[in-house]
Amino acid sequence: MKRSKFIQSLGALGALSLTNMTLVDLENLALNLPITEKMPVLFVGHGNPMNAIEDNEFSRTWNSIGKELKPSYILCISAHWESKGTFVTGEQKPKTIHDFGGFPQALFNAQYPSPGSPELAKTIQTLVTEPKIHLTDKWGLDHGTWSVLLPMFPEANIPVLQMSLDRNLSPQKMYDLAKQLAPLRKKGVLIIGSGNIVHNLRYARISEANPTPYDWALEFDALSKKLIDQRDHQSLINFKNLGSAANMSIPTDEHFLPLLYTLALQEKSENIQYFNETMAFGSGSMRSFIIS
Ligand code: ZN
Repeated sequence: MKRSKFIQSLGALGALSLTNMTLVDLENLALNLPITEKMPVLFVGHGNPMNAIEDNEFSRTWNSIGKELKPSYILCISAHWESKGTFVTGEQKPKTIHDFGGFPQALFNAQYPSPGSPELAKTIQTLVTEPKIHLTDKWGLDHGTWSVLLPMFPEANIPVLQMSLDRNLSPQKMYDLAKQLAPLRKKGVLIIGSGNIVHNLRYARISEANPTPYDWALEFDALSKKLIDQRDHQSLINFKNLGSAANMSIPTDEHFLPLLYTLALQEKSENIQYFNETMAFGSGSMRSFIIS
């Protein structure tokens, strides 16, 4: 159904209050995409950008997950795109952004030439009522997205969109926004939050082969797992009240926030399956999971 038709349909409903319609009715009106089996939702600890091109335990897991999933589209909320207002990429051909420095040339040469989907971007704009979603062709795919997708879906033939982290939104509002994305899961859209639950670069021991993780990193990683398992999303939304280990693990919140977008999409009947449950550089949790 075209957007104009969608608006007409709403008009044709006349006096019928929208509040009397179920959310599902509205979703079916709004999305001009075929209904599919419900896609899982992923939270991926992306860690070192080199995971994009290295054959290691993380990239191998991403690769095997990619073989199991057949999404029609991918929507990624990456730690590496912060903005004022919530933006979704609307370009036909998103560019690969090399948003880092000091890495080997091979990483700068890496490209992820997946198409975008201006149509899906407009659908998301229609679907999310609060806050307003803005479309942009001024971004592309940052490494929070493509460093994971390169090993996961190496053919780069699935349309990929990103959604930004709005610095004006509270964690609660981000969680509420993400809930509105739920209908996309039945339209073949794989939603991925890409960050790291524990992410403190200041303490990262990059030159050591297998540094012993810091106690505070282990403590907060375990606490996060416990709260995720207990479905205590509210405590995770209020992560600023979780104590000193949380404060050390989240010195800035951009790597933690994609977790909230992922958890918001967990339905009552759905479970969590963890992967890459290790610590990188002593101060970065690679804990990742799939909701299905
Ligand atoms: Zn990162």
